[in-house]
Amino acid sequence: MSTLDSTLPTEPTFSDLALPAALQAAVDELGFTTPSPIQARAIPALLSGRDITGVAQTGTGKTAAFGIPLLAAVGTDADVTRGHVQALVLTPTRELAMQVADAIESFATHLPGLRVLSVYGGAPYVPQQRALRDGVHVVVGTPGRVMDHMERGSLSLDGVRFLVLDEADEMLRMGFAEDVEKIFGQAPARRQVALFSATMPPAIRTVAETHLTDPVEITVSRQSSTVTNIDQSYAIVPFRHKVGSLVRVLATSDADATIVFTRTRAAAEEVGAALVERGVSAATISGDVAQKERERIVERLRSGALDVLVATDVAARGLDVDRIGLVVNFDIPREAEAYVHRIGRTGRAGRTGRALSFVTPHERGKLKHIERTIRAELTEIEIPSPKDVSEHRARRMLDAVATRRETGRLELYRAMLAERTADAGTDEVLDLAAALLALAVGDDGPRQRAEQEEFERQRAEARGGRTRETHRAERGDRDGDRTPRHPRADRRGVRDHDERPARQGVRRPAAGTRYRLAVGHTHGVQPRGIVGALTNEGGLTGGDIGKIDIFGNFSLVDITTPLDAATMDRIARAHVAGKQLRIAVDQGAPERRTPRGERRPAHAG
Ligand code: ADP
Ligand code: MG
Repeated sequence: MSTLDSTLPTEPTFSDLALPAALQAAVDELGFTTPSPIQARAIPALLSGRDITGVAQTGTGKTAAFGIPLLAAVGTDADVTRGHVQALVLTPTRELAMQVADAIESFATHLPGLRVLSVYGGAPYVPQQRALRDGVHVVVGTPGRVMDHMERGSLSLDGVRFLVLDEADEMLRMGFAEDVEKIFGQAPARRQVALFSATMPPAIRTVAETHLTDPVEITVSRQSSTVTNIDQSYAIVPFRHKVGSLVRVLATSDADATIVFTRTRAAAEEVGAALVERGVSAATISGDVAQKERERIVERLRSGALDVLVATDVAARGLDVDRIGLVVNFDIPREAEAYVHRIGRTGRAGRTGRALSFVTPHERGKLKHIERTIRAELTEIEIPSPKDVSEHRARRMLDAVATRRETGRLELYRAMLAERTADAGTDEVLDLAAALLALAVGDDGPRQRAEQEEFERQRAEARGGRTRETHRAERGDRDGDRTPRHPRADRRGVRDHDERPARQGVRRPAAGTRYRLAVGHTHGVQPRGIVGALTNEGGLTGGDIGKIDIFGNFSLVDITTPLDAATMDRIARAHVAGKQLRIAVDQGAPERRTPRGERRPAHAG
């Protein structure tokens, strides 16, 4: 272990680290004042020329910990005209490569002419090759694509002086061990290496022992990771009530954006589709989603066009979106490491975040295991009841009233109300206002009370523990069964007594415009696939989509919002069931319209 701690003041600032002026200026502009613990220890070690290993959880600021010293080594004498590659950062995923490259660029704003390039699979070679030929100083990439470029002769490591392995454990888990070895083999012997990993399993230790020279070993204890700004809670939720519970949690959450984690891809798809059906602005990313689509979804999450992302651990790896205020563990993860990674998606950039884990009555042991490992206790909370949801919506509605009054143009409604309340007492006026509020939040009356009673029953059941049904669901879970644990039947069971989709105001989908899509039964298309494409590619919400009729070779869908040319174009190029959608306004040819399969509204409106 390094002795650097003792040489540092107790509350170091970035100015204590004696960074080159250009980097200090960038750090100031980014609003970083105090280095995180890993930065306080890694930056001086790297600046002094040492190799390091850094073990730290997600969200602890590892990118700057290596990015700043990397630029100090490279940026000061970057030969801009010839610009050969002097630093190489390896990351496990394309998303991470892009994020790390972005971050390094943000530290390099005062190093004019310094060029950073990210290279990764799934993208065409030519633009990457052209950029490499034109001169790049820092390459950030996935091991596979870096190897490909080396083999094609478009990337030489001869001038590399600084080599970083980011998220090394993940890199090995993804099968990159061999590529990493080859890359080390081709890099010059005289080079500085920084290896970062969330964990230090034997395989990583071997890599460090083989390729690093007398490294300074830095471990940031769990307590000093940023987990302290995340409020961690759990709720006991029987398996078959998970979707309903999630909908109510989302309906009462004030978070800007939410990530929902599931254990399997299939579950992610199911939960995402269930949310969209209920009018939540949600999308799913799993390992299957094409990279381009994944980037688009992440970008929409970042920009606020999307509020809820459903993901598996692998798919959400490295996701860095400041708007995420809530992480829901729809399925509690098997390992404590995964738990820490997941909740690290919130509480980014100095913000506070919330993490809520659904724990089935029989998963209490798993919860205890996580609590022991992270050395923190999660607070038990109750899932919001249907009444809580109505109250939350009503409160928001009342908060919006003042603004709406100021906006004006209320004459029409005033006149109508004046007529109704001509001889009414205060009580009647209050009743009228209450009914309006109930309508506005989608509370239809007595049915709602039944929901509340059903909810109380569920809650009692959850407290009681084992029931036949939860037992059945649990057994599947423990067997590591990879089939979805919440197929449609389960969801239906929840829907019967659950909230209707959240609606702002009393919006009911109108008939809208009929569009024709070039996929049908013969291609094996499901309404879910169409809804997915329209929401993901088209940016529509469940509420924009009306009836979907699937025919042999095509489908018809009602869309209630107008689609601009760019949206039409995006949807047209989207693939569902292996076919491009080629969306077009339906011209009508009724004689062909005999659905060969079920007619199924995609949205219960
Ligand atoms: P990790 O790679 O350890 O998961 P990142 O490097 O992605 O963490 O940093 C997490 C977040 O914290 C980013 O949004 C980053 O901008 C921010 N951050 C990093 N270092 C600091 C700092 N010293 N002060 C304030 N914010 C920081
Ligand atoms: Mg990172």
